[in-house]
Amino acid sequence: MANEDCIFCKIINGEIPADFLFEDDRQIVFKDINPLAPIHLLLVPKKHIRSINDLENSDQAIISDLIMRAKSMAEKMSVDKSGYRLFFNVEKGGGQEVFHLHLHLIGGWD
Ligand code: 5GP
Ligand code: ZN
Repeated sequence: MANEDCIFCKIINGEIPADFLFEDDRQIVFKDINPLAPIHLLLVPKKHIRSINDLENSDQAIISDLIMRAKSMAEKMSVDKSGYRLFFNVEKGGGQEVFHLHLHLIGGWD
C-alpha cells in the first residue's frame, strides 16, 4: 500500500522523523516542517491516496476520520475557540506539493 517514493509514507513507516501528535491504525498527525501559522498540523491517512481526486466511495470513512480528528486536535492545541482553517490542496494548480492526501489545520494567530 505504501508508495516507496512518498515522503509521507516514509514518515508513516518511521523512515523519516516527524513531530507526531497523534497516531492510530488509520491516520497520523504531525507538525508541518514549514509552518504557515503558529499552529500548523498535517492530518494524514495511512493509506496512500494521491489527492482528493483519487478518493473512492470506499474511502468515505477516511475523510470523516480526518475531519473528526481535526476537530479534536483543534481542541487539544487550544485553537478551537479562537478559530482555525482546514484545507486540502489538490494537485499542482491547487498548491499540492506532497502527493499523499493530507488535511492542513492552521491557527493560533493573535
Ligand atoms: P501541500 O502543499 O502538498 O498541501 O502540503 C505539503 C506540506 O508538507 C507543506 O506544508 C510542507 O511544509 C510539508 N512537508 C513537506 N515535507 C515535510 C517533511 O518532511 N516533514 C514535515 N513535517 N512536513 C513536511
Ligand atoms: Zn504516501
